[in-house]
Amino acid sequence: MYQALACPPRDGQEAWELRGLAAALRLSVSKVQVVLALLRDAGVVRAGRGAAVSLGLRQVGLEADAIDRLVEGYTARRQRDADAIEAMVDYAQSGHCRWVQVLGWLSDARPTGWACGHCDNCGRIAEAQRAVAGGAG
Ligand SMILES: [Zn+2]
Repeated sequence: MYQALACPPRDGQEAWELRGLAAALRLSVSKVQVVLALLRDAGVVRAGRGAAVSLGLRQVGLEADAIDRLVEGYTARRQRDADAIEAMVDYAQSGHCRWVQVLGWLSDARPTGWACGHCDNCGRIAEAQRAVAGGAG
């Protein structure tokens, strides 16, 4: 994409526009938008606003390792986002004490043998224990 933007558009336009760039790269518009957002945030690409987005390079002659660093940064950020979503799903689906989970994230050492006794999961555990005790007695 960087190399494409360094060249003039094939159709004789003054600047690249989103659909023309996607067609030239044989990528979907949404994929091009993701990469453009990364390059724009890094100050590599300028993108005008409006329906006909005009695109161009702010930084010309960027080395391959600089582009590799941008990709690594994006990959790391994407992994962090995926980890955060996984942690939220674990939190939502877990049957363990909510406070024990939160303390585990904050300290990397979950308290063992302790529960708050007040969260929704502790309430459910206590209710189940009462039901078992009542059924046995
Ligand atoms: Zn609890």
